[in-house]
Amino acid sequence: MSEPSGTEHGPLPRPAGPADPEVAIVGAGPAGLLLGLLLGLRGRRVLLIEREDEPVPGGPGNGICPILQPATLGILDRLGLLPELTANTTAVTHGEVAGGGVTVASYAYADLPGAPVAHALPTSIVRLRDVLAAAVRALPGTEVVYGATVRALVRREGAAPDVRGLELEDARGVRTLYPSLIVGCDGKRSAVREMAGISATARAFQRGYTELRLPLPGSWGPVMRAAFTADGYVLGTPIADETLLFAWITDPDTAGEAVDGPLEALAERYAQAAPQAADWIREHTTDRSQVREFLHHIVRPERWTDGNVVLVGDSAHGVHVYGGQGLNLSLQDAACVATAADQAMTAGDTAALHRFEALRRPFTEAFQDMQEAHLDALAARAGGAASPDAGEGAGHLPDFAPLALGQSELRAAFAAAVPEGARSLPAAVSVGTGARP
Ligand SMILES: Cc1cc2nc3c(=O)[nH]c(=O)nc-3n(C[C@H](O)[C@H](O)[C@H](O)COP(=O)(O)OP(=O)(O)OC[C@H]3O[C@@H](n4cnc5c(N)ncnc54)[C@H](O)[C@@H]3O)c2cc1C
Repeated sequence: MSEPSGTEHGPLPRPAGPADPEVAIVGAGPAGLLLGLLLGLRGRRVLLIEREDEPVPGGPGNGICPILQPATLGILDRLGLLPELTANTTAVTHGEVAGGGVTVASYAYADLPGAPVAHALPTSIVRLRDVLAAAVRALPGTEVVYGATVRALVRREGAAPDVRGLELEDARGVRTLYPSLIVGCDGKRSAVREMAGISATARAFQRGYTELRLPLPGSWGPVMRAAFTADGYVLGTPIADETLLFAWITDPDTAGEAVDGPLEALAERYAQAAPQAADWIREHTTDRSQVREFLHHIVRPERWTDGNVVLVGDSAHGVHVYGGQGLNLSLQDAACVATAADQAMTAGDTAALHRFEALRRPFTEAFQDMQEAHLDALAARAGGAASPDAGEGAGHLPDFAPLALGQSELRAAFAAAVPEGARSLPAAVSVGTGARP
């Protein structure tokens, strides 16, 4: 990692007592679990605090199916977790982009110089959580408490005002912990961010993102197909359980009209955008339950590090799904913050965390700026306010290499985040391979 100076660093005290963890991570989602795993592998005592009840591994449903890119898969591969994640889903080796009905770009992951893995992987978020949680459970110094909430961040006596502890409520009652570091991995509506007094701007994208799930036709292949159409942007990709997922991004009015109207008319919108599978889409769109709308937010906090509190993942940068980077950024952040937090605790100073923020935050904010510009242009075109040339939107395509390989200055840091010997983890990690109803 190159080293911009951390100008606002301050002291990082040791945990107050032997019962206090070195790191308290609030939120056992993907970012929190990976961070806890990597810190645990470094021998740090970690407590993960999750407000939901403990999930049953292999429980029903796949949840959403984000696409993990090679940079992120490289981290999970070095942990030896890829076989567990690859079971039951389809590796995607190619991408194609169409605009105005013609192919305007095509990519092969194998052609990307330096790609740690030569494919992308649509991964059930539920399976990812199960695999990471099983790996965390295998570490002696790392504990997860479920059904737990943080009631407040509290001042730590004798320490600087921005060094805080947390008041935790769980099945054991209410207790106050004074870890060295408190990490907010609690998603885009982060309570830690709010309790730390870190203000954030948020833009909600009402309607305008709709998914359609179908059985996967044998003729589709390991390909992600994106199309810019007069109606916006449609991405079709194979996901877990032999399913074909189409994600459609458009303006809220067009989405409302299509989703609230007859199912056949909605299917026709997707069919027009994916001529390779048009008849399949018409034939297999039979039930409203195949259609799901999601609300996305772009969230931008004023800072990520405040005293001994750090934000990681969606809590630090909620992004829109366009470009498929939210989970990738979050897991890549978790890897880099594991290294930075370890260094900060050894040094007793937050400088390493500020250096990471100084390098990473401008990159994620530039990505958010790109999303807003492209999404506004897509919405204007779909709403009929701009050019009649449906191919024009293809000019808004984000660059492929940074999406696949991550921020160039951090690629070496992703690799370095996983300690030697971590590949022995899979012996402890098996969550089964069966299809989920
Ligand atoms: C439909 C859809 C498609 C997506 N597709 C992609 C994609 O293709 N590629 C991609 O990279 N990303 C994608 N994403 C984004 C991705 O899912 C998120 O960026 C990712 O889940 C963020 O991980 P996280 O761990 O930071 O936060 P979260 O996943 O939000 O996890 C936060 C955790 O914190 C817990 N929590 C919250 N509040 C508290 C609290 N107060 N106390 C304790 N625990 C708390 C929650 O229960 C949860 O377990 C998609 C998202 C959606 C909705």
